[in-house]
Amino acid sequence: MMISAAEDIGFLIQIVQKDYEIVTRKKFLETAPSKIADLETEISKMDEELQKDLDEIAGLESEQKNLSGKIKLQNDDINKKKLDREKLKTNKEYRAMGNEIEYLLDKVDEEEEQILMILDKITAAEKELEKIKARIDSEKDGLLDRKNELDEEVRVNEEKLQIIEDEKIRILPHLSEKVMRRYERILKAKGDSGVANLAGDVCQGCFSRVPPQKAHEIRKNDQLLTCEDCGRILVYYSKA
Ligand SMILES: [Zn+2]
Repeated sequence: MMISAAEDIGFLIQIVQKDYEIVTRKKFLETAPSKIADLETEISKMDEELQKDLDEIAGLESEQKNLSGKIKLQNDDINKKKLDREKLKTNKEYRAMGNEIEYLLDKVDEEEEQILMILDKITAAEKELEKIKARIDSEKDGLLDRKNELDEEVRVNEEKLQIIEDEKIRILPHLSEKVMRRYERILKAKGDSGVANLAGDVCQGCFSRVPPQKAHEIRKNDQLLTCEDCGRILVYYSKA
């Protein structure tokens, strides 16, 4: 059975619409993973920042605890030495013990100084923690929502791409042998489609202008004409 040019064109119009949709969905699927990865990085950066600050506070608190313990032992030691000193017989021994006690008291002073510095650092880290938490409260949910939306869009696009590719595969065999080969050849060369719609008098494949008389012929959709600039088969349909 002979397939008329008008029939071929009817199928080519269906095919080019599928091709455009395939290109759009593939483009989305190519760019989505890096967008999703960026969102994931932003989210995990927030979590890491929070954890880093919590770790810093925990470190400072344990440093403070160690120092406090040390001071307590040193004070016990000082009190014991003070009692021992009372039992000493000679002035020399008494003075020596006094020096030792003096030395220990200085050390305790130094350590108490250090504790104050640590407490300042803890206060600063806690302030920072509040800031991080506030930012997480206001931003993290939004980032997660966007990531989930993108995940869902990827799923939908993959599904629709599969459907549309199946539909196209079912239309192709309806084309006449010659037109199908021509279509496949141009598709391979161009990557998007072997066909282009004519909008006004502009080829939608390469956006070059088609002479008015030729454009008029193309709009009749009853003969196979190609774009002189890009080689795609030109058809005409109004975009819904
Ligand atoms: Zn063109």
